[in-house]
Amino acid sequence: MQRDELASRQSGLEQQIEASKSRRAELERRMYGGQVTAPRELQAMDDEVKHLMRHIAELEDREIEVMEALEPLDAELETAERERVALEEAAMRLREAIALSEASLSADLAVQSEERDGAAGDVPRELLVRYEQLRKKLGGTGAARLIGGSCGGCHLALPSMEVDRIRKALPDAVITCDQCGRILVR
Ligand SMILES: [Zn+2]
Repeated sequence: MQRDELASRQSGLEQQIEASKSRRAELERRMYGGQVTAPRELQAMDDEVKHLMRHIAELEDREIEVMEALEPLDAELETAERERVALEEAAMRLREAIALSEASLSADLAVQSEERDGAAGDVPRELLVRYEQLRKKLGGTGAARLIGGSCGGCHLALPSMEVDRIRKALPDAVITCDQCGRILVR
């Protein structure tokens, strides 16, 4: 706002300077052109030229003042513009990175869901339903590995008798953790 006001003041001053200069040029052309010979008229024209010269100098001084006031504002504007461009570039790079990540994630997801579907195809339907129910109930993991007598899901140690029973169970028997209910993978 302040900058626009100063800029329009500057162009107003420039117009006034131009008008005064062309008036002065017109007077001088007539004075030295030889058509005006009356001394009183020549004197009046000479006075006006002198007045115009003072006026032009005054206007030019005011224009310099306005330009000096404009300088820091223009510098500020330039800095802000550079910052805006830099931010826009950073935002563009981030959007590109996000798009790349999204593409890579959805590719991964497609591969994994294909693998999962393939693996689930081998699992008996009843067990799969049970697994899905457990998964929903237990925060995303319906099955856990049995690691050294402990459940990999709830991390509690199973009683040694239970571990013994599991070891003796048939390979395709479904074993669950007594504590959390997850299907235990041996
Ligand atoms: Zn458990």
